[in-house]
Amino acid sequence: MGAAGARTFCPMCANLLSKRISRRRAASFPPLPLARTATPRFWEVKRLTEMTETEWESLCDGCGKCCLHKLQEEDTGHIHYTNVACELLDLASCQCADYVKRWDTVPDCVKLTPRLLHRLAWMPETCAYRLLARGEPLPPWHPLETGDPESVHRAGMSARGRAVSELDAGPLEDHIVEWSDL
Ligand code: SF4
Ligand code: SF4
Repeated sequence: MGAAGARTFCPMCANLLSKRISRRRAASFPPLPLARTATPRFWEVKRLTEMTETEWESLCDGCGKCCLHKLQEEDTGHIHYTNVACELLDLASCQCADYVKRWDTVPDCVKLTPRLLHRLAWMPETCAYRLLARGEPLPPWHPLETGDPESVHRAGMSARGRAVSELDAGPLEDHIVEWSDL
């Protein structure tokens, strides 16, 4: 189950499609190059398109929610989130277990870019990239605000403790969730 790019059909909605997106794997926080070179509070003064690669990567809060499968009604476009995680998502850390080589296992993993962001209506409401693209501030629990990568988990804003691997889940349609932070 969970073959990358596989279309999933729902008996209720007739036509549903699974989606996922890539994000960084944080080995440390903040990344050392960022600590040395980034403009202080760069996310408040730079456009997304002006950020360095390191700054862009550091925006990810590590929530893991973009690595959950979504189902989309093709007739209405409505997105249903599930609590089923990509097989490569480490459910404890909420990081990709094989980020550099992830496409070997998950070829449909999408690389997030500023240009693509505006077309991804299914990103979580709390996603830092989505918030900044809308001109909204980062939430107070964001690791860039707290200096602590665990703050996203303590705030209950990540997939930690709420997700199941696609290798164990069974049909996606049985796992639709309505979390308030999606
Ligand atoms: S391959 Fe990695 S980054 Fe991509 S969806 Fe899966 S866990 Fe997330
Ligand atoms: S939803 Fe956004 S902030 Fe959360 S892991 Fe994905 S890219 Fe990072």
